[in-house]
Amino acid sequence: MTKSMKHSEIIQEGDPVLHGKAKAVPLPKISSGKIQGIISDMKNTLLDEADGVAIAAPQIGVPLRIFIVSHRAFAIANEEKSKKERRLTPPVPEKELICINPEITKLSKKKSKVPEGCLSVRWKYGQTVRHEKATLSAYDEHGKRFTYGGSGLIAQIFQHENDHLNGILFVDHATDIEILTPEQIAELEKKNAEIR
Ligand code: ZN
Repeated sequence: MTKSMKHSEIIQEGDPVLHGKAKAVPLPKISSGKIQGIISDMKNTLLDEADGVAIAAPQIGVPLRIFIVSHRAFAIANEEKSKKERRLTPPVPEKELICINPEITKLSKKKSKVPEGCLSVRWKYGQTVRHEKATLSAYDEHGKRFTYGGSGLIAQIFQHENDHLNGILFVDHATDIEILTPEQIAELEKKNAEIR
């Protein structure tokens, strides 16, 4: 199959597709041209956003339960870990993680306050309270079921993206929301800001 280089504009807050519940992908359809095209479109759209670390299908206007976590997100998360933590957590995936019909199957009791932004809520940032660990069960782009236990940034991304599939944006529950200036954004990007 030829790889589509199609990419989409990222839908912004206020559009109904971001505020509704996305539908499950029928498993036999995962290999279809339509679903593979959507995945490729999501990958390309995410690649265009220098500061993006993940994207959910509703963000490109598709109300289906699919999200992608970039390889960069895992690399950033891995850098944040101690050697011991690296031994105890799953290896960094070789490419982006495609999550179809994802379900969060386990959440740590422990939560922490973390800075958060969103590609669909430009240019607001705020503080959210997220579980420190989250286990995700999903199907990959080949229809194979997998489980991934994430902590820190990855756990936060899993929760943020899963919320997207349920029509929830971080600004629905964040505190200390502020709109950043271009200078502050440049500063954040330098620090590999966690923007989804
Ligand atoms: Zn988002």
